[in-house]
Amino acid sequence: MTTSHKELELVSVTKRYGATVAVDAIHHKFQPGGYACLLGPSGCGKSSTLRMIAGHEIVSDGSILLGGSDISDLPPAKRGTAMMFQNYALFPHLSVADNVAFSLKMRGEDRQTRLAKAGEMLELVDLSALSDRLPDQLSGGQQQRVALARALITRPDVLLLDEPLSALDPFLRIRMRGELRRLQRELGISFVHVTHGQDEALALADEIVVMNNAVIEQAGSARDVFNAPRTAFVAQFIGGHNVIALPQGHFAIRTDAVGIGDPSAGGMEGSILAVEYQGAHVAVSARVAGDQEVSAMVPEAQFFTNPFNPGDPVGLIWDDANLHKLTA
Ligand code: ADP
Repeated sequence: MTTSHKELELVSVTKRYGATVAVDAIHHKFQPGGYACLLGPSGCGKSSTLRMIAGHEIVSDGSILLGGSDISDLPPAKRGTAMMFQNYALFPHLSVADNVAFSLKMRGEDRQTRLAKAGEMLELVDLSALSDRLPDQLSGGQQQRVALARALITRPDVLLLDEPLSALDPFLRIRMRGELRRLQRELGISFVHVTHGQDEALALADEIVVMNNAVIEQAGSARDVFNAPRTAFVAQFIGGHNVIALPQGHFAIRTDAVGIGDPSAGGMEGSILAVEYQGAHVAVSARVAGDQEVSAMVPEAQFFTNPFNPGDPVGLIWDDANLHKLTA
């Protein structure tokens, strides 16, 4: 398969819909050949960004560069990008093979070449046996793989995926995200995947681009974003963190870096609000001074050596070295 290391770059890209600024002058260079996730809450501008990269939406201001060339004004099929849609958008009356080969037909390739290439793509997504079926004879996961094969057949430099896993049940979602990651590695091309799920982004991405209110709030490797969130928004959205206001400012601390103990043993005093058993961990939340809530992920065995119940006084303990200062 082809490997492409063309760099995708957003230069002051803005999207306005009338008076709404959906994307506000964002800059970003995507890691060539990497798996990037655009992560953020609904309405923050992720899809608009993706659709502008794909050419399905006009850029109001700024430019999109791929391999140094400005692709902002090119039609979708001429950009070197391909899009996989959330609802898969398969043609119900065409077989799996013809769905996959469709864009080649549009390009005027002969039927034999089309079907040979479609066959290769179906092999890649492990669907060779089902090439004659119609879309409604397939499961959700299979339909998704057809949509993937159909997007990849144009040999794009960048594959764009808009909430590709949201239509699947939780079990299949986790399986398919493994498949996406495997495919991206095998193909060696850049994937840009839009999601509002932090667990999905952490599991998949080499690079997470966190968006909020039309701007990029933070971008970095999954581990960097998780371990060093820059703002309270990122710390809260990425999950697994407390944001605590202390006299010196706002800090993030991972919930698994907070321990619980008897208040007489020290720590920040609080009272237990809720205890939730989660298998490997027990999630404990406590109310502390200033009406703040602090959560602790306590390893199961440790919790049950000295269990707490809602209403109990508690001391919350952490190593100050694990406090991470937030800038906003
Ligand atoms: P996300 O993908 O993060 O949910 P979107 O990019 O879809 O965010 O939307 C960003 C903002 O732009 C939202 O306020 C949304 O209502 C608005 N928006 C999106 N598409 C349109 C459109 N076609 N016309 C008008 N407003 C739009």
